[in-house]
Amino acid sequence: MKIELHEIPISQVAEGYTESEEGGVKGYGGLLDIRPPFQREFIYSDSQRDDVIRSVKNDFPLNVMYWVVNDGGMYEMLDGQQRTISICRYIQGVFSVDRMKFGSLTASEKERFLDYKLMVYFCEGDEREKWDWFNIVNIAGERLTPQELRNTVYPGPWLTHAKSIFSKRNGPAHNLASDYMKGEPIRQEYLERVLEWYSEYAGFTGKTDDRIRYCMSDCQHKSDAGALWLYFQNVISWVRCIFPNYRGEMKSVNWGAYYNMYHDREFDAVELERRYSILAEDEDVTSPSGIYEYLIDGNEKHLNLRSFSKRQKRAAYERQNGICAHCGKHFEFDDMEADHITPWRDGGRTTPENCQMLCRTCNRKKGGS
Ligand SMILES: [Zn+2]
Repeated sequence: MKIELHEIPISQVAEGYTESEEGGVKGYGGLLDIRPPFQREFIYSDSQRDDVIRSVKNDFPLNVMYWVVNDGGMYEMLDGQQRTISICRYIQGVFSVDRMKFGSLTASEKERFLDYKLMVYFCEGDEREKWDWFNIVNIAGERLTPQELRNTVYPGPWLTHAKSIFSKRNGPAHNLASDYMKGEPIRQEYLERVLEWYSEYAGFTGKTDDRIRYCMSDCQHKSDAGALWLYFQNVISWVRCIFPNYRGEMKSVNWGAYYNMYHDREFDAVELERRYSILAEDEDVTSPSGIYEYLIDGNEKHLNLRSFSKRQKRAAYERQNGICAHCGKHFEFDDMEADHITPWRDGGRTTPENCQMLCRTCNRKKGGS
């Protein structure tokens, strides 16, 4: 069974959409059979149907869909029928949502709707596999997470061993690391997280989903998952070694990504703790878990530094009589941006005395706030 994730815009899926007694339901330029024989009839309630349309309009994610790739470049919909029919019928003007039909949307709203990308897994396999799939995807009751799905594709002794470590409550990985990461082992969130890290460490590249699958395919026939387990223990030991003083915020840090990049570098745990305490008391720092990331890679963006309030900006604007502090020209309030006279990294804080207004061009030249 071969499975690939594709992003397909609604415009393509709805192209050539037809619905009839004899011809069935077709889309994707006639290549997609939206209601193959094994599929249920359209059973969405109006409110479920409307929620699908609202999700697309708001650019909220829909669950992944599954299409089976058949010989001759034809597709059958394995899962996603009801959402797809809702979307296509809406475009055809069959119903309105919030009293608006598709035809009465503005040109740009229509365009945005049609550009919305559906996440579709293309599945290639024989009849038997197709049926197994259908059973897993539709009848299991609960939706599969992406990692649960990957587990069904790469079974073997390696995966069995990995799951015995990473996929149990109070299993070895959960006991070791539940203070340092979020997630539910049973829903494969630990396994997914460690594979996300390990695949990168092992040199696989690409989007996370691709990277994890390449890595799983590479490991599939190994007799055990010892290397993965050892790697995971190293990540956690590294964290404990450089930050021995535990804080709850540590749960939110994506530790493996930092381990992969910085595990060869020397860190001074005492010095890091000293700097952590100072940053934790700094009122301009609004992301406590970001302090860890900042201490490792030095990027201020992790700290989510406080910006000036509208009131502080107004006060500075009035004080300057609308004159840009750099180029000396006059600007309207809305055309100016607040700037720290002394930057945060040099000890300047987000206080009224340290605020000046610059025109956009001067602020860009100075490099942000
Ligand atoms: Zn200026």
